Amino acid sequence: MNDCRQAILARVMKRVVIDHETGCWIWQGATSGNGRGGGYPRMCLDGQTLAVHRVTFVCTYGYVRGKKTLDHTCRARLCVNPDHLEMVTNRGNCRRRDHALAEVGLRDCDQREAAE
Ligand SMILES: [Zn+2]
Repeated sequence: MNDCRQAILARVMKRVVIDHETGCWIWQGATSGNGRGGGYPRMCLDGQTLAVHRVTFVCTYGYVRGKKTLDHTCRARLCVNPDHLEMVTNRGNCRRRDHALAEVGLRDCDQREAAE
Protein backbone atom coordinates (compact mmCIF):
# COMPACT_ATOMS: atom_id res chain seq x y z
CA MET A 1 0.00 0.00 0.00
CA ASN A 2 1.51 3.35 -0.94
CA ASP A 3 1.71 6.44 1.30
CA CYS A 4 -1.06 8.24 -0.53
CA ARG A 5 -3.51 5.42 0.08
CA GLN A 6 -2.35 5.14 3.66
CA ALA A 7 -2.97 8.86 4.20
CA ILE A 8 -6.48 8.64 2.71
CA LEU A 9 -7.33 5.63 4.85
CA ALA A 10 -6.03 7.45 7.93
CA ARG A 11 -8.38 10.33 7.10
CA VAL A 12 -11.30 7.97 6.74
CA MET A 13 -10.50 6.21 10.01
CA LYS A 14 -10.73 9.49 11.91
CA ARG A 15 -14.42 9.61 11.08
CA VAL A 16 -15.15 5.95 11.68
CA VAL A 17 -16.31 4.13 14.78
CA ILE A 18 -15.49 0.43 14.75
CA ASP A 19 -18.26 -1.87 15.90
CA HIS A 20 -16.32 -4.62 17.62
CA GLU A 21 -19.23 -7.02 17.51
CA THR A 22 -19.72 -6.96 13.75
CA GLY A 23 -16.33 -5.57 12.69
CA CYS A 24 -18.14 -2.82 10.80
CA TRP A 25 -16.45 0.54 10.31
CA ILE A 26 -19.40 2.84 10.88
CA TRP A 27 -19.03 6.18 9.10
CA GLN A 28 -19.78 9.25 11.23
CA GLY A 29 -19.39 11.93 8.55
CA ALA A 30 -21.61 13.17 5.73
CA THR A 31 -23.88 10.88 3.75
CA SER A 32 -25.66 11.06 0.41
CA GLY A 33 -28.92 12.07 2.13
CA ASN A 34 -32.23 10.49 2.98
CA GLY A 35 -33.71 9.84 -0.45
CA ARG A 36 -33.65 6.75 -2.61
CA GLY A 37 -30.08 5.53 -2.93
CA GLY A 38 -29.23 7.82 -0.02
CA GLY A 39 -27.67 7.08 3.33
CA TYR A 40 -24.30 6.10 1.91
CA PRO A 41 -21.09 7.62 3.30
CA ARG A 42 -19.67 10.53 1.32
CA MET A 43 -16.38 12.37 1.61
CA CYS A 44 -14.58 15.12 -0.20
CA LEU A 45 -11.24 14.23 -1.74
CA ASP A 46 -9.31 16.58 -4.03
CA GLY A 47 -12.47 18.61 -4.60
CA GLN A 48 -14.49 15.54 -5.58
CA THR A 49 -17.33 14.02 -3.61
CA LEU A 50 -16.80 10.30 -3.35
CA ALA A 51 -18.49 7.29 -1.80
CA VAL A 52 -16.36 6.45 1.21
CA HIS A 53 -16.78 2.67 0.95
CA ARG A 54 -15.49 2.92 -2.61
CA VAL A 55 -12.50 4.91 -1.39
CA THR A 56 -11.57 2.36 1.29
CA PHE A 57 -12.06 -0.52 -1.15
CA VAL A 58 -9.87 1.08 -3.81
CA CYS A 59 -7.22 1.99 -1.22
CA THR A 60 -7.13 -1.59 -0.02
CA TYR A 61 -7.61 -3.68 -3.15
CA GLY A 62 -6.89 -1.33 -6.05
CA TYR A 63 -9.24 -0.01 -8.69
CA VAL A 64 -12.87 -0.97 -9.14
CA ARG A 65 -13.09 -1.96 -12.78
CA GLY A 66 -15.81 -1.05 -15.25
CA LYS A 67 -19.39 -0.86 -14.13
CA LYS A 68 -18.90 -2.96 -11.04
CA THR A 69 -20.51 -1.68 -7.89
CA LEU A 70 -19.68 -2.55 -4.32
CA ASP A 71 -22.13 -4.51 -2.27
CA HIS A 72 -22.11 -4.59 1.51
CA THR A 73 -21.98 -8.19 2.67
CA CYS A 74 -22.91 -6.95 6.17
CA ARG A 75 -25.82 -4.87 4.76
CA ALA A 76 -24.83 -1.87 6.90
CA ARG A 77 -24.94 1.09 4.53
CA LEU A 78 -22.71 3.22 6.72
CA CYS A 79 -20.05 0.52 6.96
CA VAL A 80 -16.84 1.35 5.06
CA ASN A 81 -14.81 -1.73 6.03
CA PRO A 82 -13.32 -3.03 2.76
CA ASP A 83 -13.50 -6.57 4.14
CA HIS A 84 -17.29 -6.20 4.21
CA LEU A 85 -17.48 -5.15 0.57
CA GLU A 86 -17.79 -7.31 -2.47
CA MET A 87 -17.41 -6.28 -6.09
CA VAL A 88 -20.50 -7.21 -8.08
CA THR A 89 -22.11 -6.19 -11.33
CA ASN A 90 -24.97 -3.71 -11.04
CA ARG A 91 -27.46 -6.36 -11.96
CA GLY A 92 -26.02 -8.83 -9.51
CA ASN A 93 -26.17 -6.26 -6.74
CA CYS A 94 -29.75 -5.47 -7.59
CA ARG A 95 -30.75 -9.11 -7.71
CA ARG A 96 -29.18 -9.73 -4.33
CA ARG A 97 -30.95 -6.71 -2.88
CA ASP A 98 -34.14 -7.88 -4.52
CA HIS A 99 -33.69 -11.21 -2.85
CA ALA A 100 -33.07 -9.51 0.51
CA LEU A 101 -36.15 -7.31 0.01
CA ALA A 102 -38.24 -10.31 -0.97
CA GLU A 103 -37.29 -11.89 2.33
CA VAL A 104 -38.84 -8.97 4.20
CA GLY A 105 -41.82 -8.80 1.84
CA LEU A 106 -40.66 -5.93 -0.34
CA ARG A 107 -39.66 -5.87 -3.96
CA ASP A 108 -38.68 -2.67 -5.69
CA CYS A 109 -35.71 -3.69 -7.80
CA ASP A 110 -37.48 -3.72 -11.15
CA GLN A 111 -39.02 -0.28 -10.71
CA ARG A 112 -35.69 1.18 -9.72
CA GLU A 113 -33.92 -0.32 -12.71
CA ALA A 114 -36.59 1.02 -15.04
CA ALA A 115 -36.29 4.48 -13.52
CA GLU A 116 -32.53 4.70 -13.82
ZN1 LIG B 1 -19.72 -3.98 7.84
